[in-house]
Amino acid sequence: MARILVTGGSGFIGSHLCEELIRRGHDVLCLDNLFSGSRDNIRHLLGNPYFEFVRHDVIHPFFAEVDHIYHLACPASPIHYQYNPIKTIKTNVMGTINMLGLAKRVKARILLTSTSEVYGNPNIHPQEEAYWGNVNPIGLRSCYDEGKRVAETLMMDYHRQNGVDIRIARIFNTYGPRMAINDGRVISNFIVQALRGEDLTVYGDGTQTRSFCYISDMTDGIVRMAEAEGFIGPVNLGNPIESTILEIAERILSITRSRSRIVFSPLPSDDPERRCPNITRAKERLGWQPKIALDVGLSNTIAYFKDKLNRSVTVGREAP
Ligand code: NAD
Ligand code: UDP
Repeated sequence: MARILVTGGSGFIGSHLCEELIRRGHDVLCLDNLFSGSRDNIRHLLGNPYFEFVRHDVIHPFFAEVDHIYHLACPASPIHYQYNPIKTIKTNVMGTINMLGLAKRVKARILLTSTSEVYGNPNIHPQEEAYWGNVNPIGLRSCYDEGKRVAETLMMDYHRQNGVDIRIARIFNTYGPRMAINDGRVISNFIVQALRGEDLTVYGDGTQTRSFCYISDMTDGIVRMAEAEGFIGPVNLGNPIESTILEIAERILSITRSRSRIVFSPLPSDDPERRCPNITRAKERLGWQPKIALDVGLSNTIAYFKDKLNRSVTVGREAP
């Protein structure tokens, strides 16, 4: 049994990761400031003797005796990370320095959940880890993109200079149960709109692409990366099956049998035109590739949101 710190542990990916680590017999300490995460996501774990929640902001130092750190804390949806861009940069820079300082002090292994956004609006396709990216350093997305690029730099420098045992995972678009209703990312937006009978808001003409990975595949990949020996990454984790955003809207309308219409609104600035991971490295080094088909993942996620929307009508509001 390892003592594991999960920052951002009450968020979408973090809560699934906490659950998976407990299932594997570990002792989990979940740290979160509840900015975009929710107690609802971890409520079922709160009574578990191997789970502990601490409300804490990673821009402030934190000390605990742990063996591994999974450093996820950072809002991931564009509307959340652009809400307070300076805070997003502080979270990525100061938060990562604090977690690396802790890892150095207690000799813990630390994994960073970096992002496909480090590739920006990519000039090569699909994106492989050796590609350095095409990122606008002064745009609306740069607080997140550049923040994660600095976080990767910090990871590498603590590794080279102080011998910290690091892992860098570059995560591509991930979806599934426990995304927030107001998350603002495309899959949750379209599902909530379809279930409420509202128009599905496609930004731009919908020809931009993304590659969507289901949450259980992602947590499996992250844990494999954290437990890999002699491989620090970076490694792409994502589903290499690429779809246009319009195709996603149509799939969701079809599975929900919704009568909602598709409407088009302006594309946000710096919105990447296409994104698809080359996962050769993950296959070779981790023996990992996604297993869950898009329709299966979408159906599970739709079932989750149906239940969540029914409950929020009954309870009156979402719990923080
Ligand atoms: P999320 O917003 O659901 O979770 C992020 C969690 O971090 C939330 O619980 C939030 O409250 C917490 N947090 C934010 N700032 C914090 C701070 N200063 N101190 C403490 N906690 C803080 O997002 P997610 O989708 O679960 O993403 C988790 C990680 O994975 C992030 O690092 C994100 O950059 C990365 N990632 C996610 C995706 C994706 O498609 N979901 C893609 C690429 C990378
Ligand atoms: N998008 C959309 N409608 C929405 C939300 C998002 O058309 O209601 C588009 C968005 O412009 C982008 C893609 O869907 O091209 C993925 O957006 P998301 O915010 O999920 O992730 P990211 O842009 O960070 O990959």
